[in-house]
Parts: sequence; C-alpha cells; structure tokens
Amino acid sequence: MSKIAALIVAGGRGERAGGGIAKQYRAVLGLPLLAWTARALSANSHIGSVQLVIGKNDRQQYDLALDGLTSLAPATGGQTRQESVLAGLEALGATRPDFVLIHDAARPLVSQDLIDRVFTALEGGAEAVLPILPVVDALKARQGDLWTSASRENLFRAQTPQGFCFKQILKAHREFAGTAAADDIAIAELAGMQITTVAGDERNMKVTTAEDFVLAESLLAANFETRSGFGFDAHRFGPGDHVWLCGVKIPHDFGLVGHSDADAGLHALTDAILGAIAEGDIGQHFKPTDERWRGAASSMFLRHAAKLVAKARGAIIHCDVTLICEAPKLAPYRDAMRASIAQILELDISRVSVKATTTEGMGFTGRGEGIAAQAVATVRMPR
Ligand code: MG
Repeated sequence: MSKIAALIVAGGRGERAGGGIAKQYRAVLGLPLLAWTARALSANSHIGSVQLVIGKNDRQQYDLALDGLTSLAPATGGQTRQESVLAGLEALGATRPDFVLIHDAARPLVSQDLIDRVFTALEGGAEAVLPILPVVDALKARQGDLWTSASRENLFRAQTPQGFCFKQILKAHREFAGTAAADDIAIAELAGMQITTVAGDERNMKVTTAEDFVLAESLLAANFETRSGFGFDAHRFGPGDHVWLCGVKIPHDFGLVGHSDADAGLHALTDAILGAIAEGDIGQHFKPTDERWRGAASSMFLRHAAKLVAKARGAIIHCDVTLICEAPKLAPYRDAMRASIAQILELDISRVSVKATTTEGMGFTGRGEGIAAQAVATVRMPR
C-alpha cells in the first residue's frame, strides 16, 4: 500500500477577501476556512498524514483553528507560495511518503471523489496529476483599446489537489527554487515530469473574494442537516443549603438529591444533545450505579455529549433550558447559568438560553418537592 501525504499551503495573507484577517482563518459556518480544508483531506482514507505550511506570525491562529486535526507540526512558510511548498515538502521528507497531494488552503470544498481520482492516477503510475475543468465562458483579450475574441479550445482551468511522486516533486522544487511558477504543476513541467489530467470539480472553488465566502458557506451548509433533541430531568429536594443548576451553585434552604451533583438543568441539556445525535441517554453513558459518578460535577456529562457531537463532525448551534420550580428564585442567576453552559460547551453565550418558570403551585414542583428541567438542543450534523 502506497504512503500518501497531503500538503496544505496556508502561508499567504489572502487580502482580496478583505476583513483584515488572513482569509484561511476567517470563519465559515463557525469554523475557520483552513479547518474545513484540513478536515476534508484528513477524512480521506488514503491520506496518511497532513502537513500544513503556515505564515510565520500565524502560529497562535493555527493552534486555535486546527486544534488536534493534524498530527504533524506545521512548517513555516516563506515569502512566496513556492518557498512555502518547498518548506512543506522538506518537512514531509521525514515521513517518506510515496505520493504527495499539494492543496490550496482556500479550497475547503474538495470532495473525497476528487482526492480519490488524483490518488488513483498516481497509483496507476502517473508522475504528476492535474485536476482540470473546461473553460465555459467566452474569452476576450485586450491589447490597448483593441478587443479580440480568443478561442477557449485547449484552455483549461487548473485546480488542486495536484498529485505528485514525492521524490520527484521535492527534487523539482529544490532545483527550480526561485523560478516564478503559478502552481506546482508548472514546477513539474520545468522538471520534465509527465502530466496526467483528471476531471476537476466545479464545487471545489478557490475562496478568494468576500462573495466567495458567502457562496462557500452555502455550499458547505448543503453537506449538513439540522437536528433537534429534547431532554427532561427532575430531582427531589433533600437536606442541604444549596442546589447546583446549569453548573452554578445557588444558595437554598434545601439541596437536591441525586447520585451526581443532581444538576437537573445540565442533565436535561445533556439528554437533549444526546437525543439530537441519537446516542441514547445520560444513564447509558454514565450508569447511576457506578461509584465513579457519585457526587460528580455534571459539567463532565455535558462535556462528554459535546465530544460525541464533535466526533461525529457535528456542531452544537443552540441550546435552550427551562428550569421549573417555585424556589429558589432563579432570575438573578440566569446569566451566570448561561455563561456556565457556554463555557462548558465552548459556545458563544448568544447561543445559550436559560429560562425559569413556576407551575403556579400545581404538581410536584408547585408543592416544592423538587426541581424539573427541560432542554432543547439544536445540532448541525453531516448528512
Ligand atoms: Mg438527573
């Protein structure tokens, strides 16, 4: 089995997109552009390692954007794209891949099918593989004030990932370092490598302008669906001088009885998230008879549910918790509870709602026997 590595070039500034931040770190559907690109390549079963090349001042942004997505430390890019690619290839040298796929950071929509087409051509003996697309618009050339119509016959648009025999492209990049080249295929041409083409993909757009970000966001969104989950929990009052609700300690004349810290709010929310991803309920993941969870902070259960969402490549979009009791009065703690959930789930506080209500003296909460909680979680999941 051939060893295949991917190299993502993310060293540029991408100023045409505006906004002051390098475009590869701009958020698309809540994730930096670069993270989508790295995810797409990491998800391919043929690709063993993913090497990134980043700008020399971008390490902090990179750590935030990629957090655990790739195992190799990023290489530091140079002044030009070509210098950055060479730095990445040299860094990959230690892993001795047979093939390398060199990809633009700004193409987050690369499909698994396209990666497979490039890989299959390399496995079939190609030295350099170029995904191409036909030119469909009519072409016009200008010389001074004179416009002429140009033929689009034999003209193609070049995409990435471009695939290469690793040793050959490394040698070529070393040999032609400093020669102006539009992409890595141009370097392969200079070195006399044989170019093989495969069909590109119209969706594999290069995100360049502010308009492209809007389009890329809608194309990425089409890969996801929105799901909701509902959770309910109740705990009985017992002796004590405080209750835990949504991770906040609230003074009260009673405590709540439970195996863990009896935080009905976090339990309901944990069940809502588990419900949204159809992963059972809290009791299945944390047996109520297990001594390990005696007195446990319920933030742990919630964090576990969030990890399952992330593992499934989903994202929590919103949560809404309703607490039901006559006392204690919860309004003064509402924002602290929102902040607590936001912190546990690493969400913006605008995506967290906590409400409180009574049942006007009716039922078990009305008689002051305990506290109940309901929660709805909205989650974005890959289709
Ligand atoms: Mg409970």
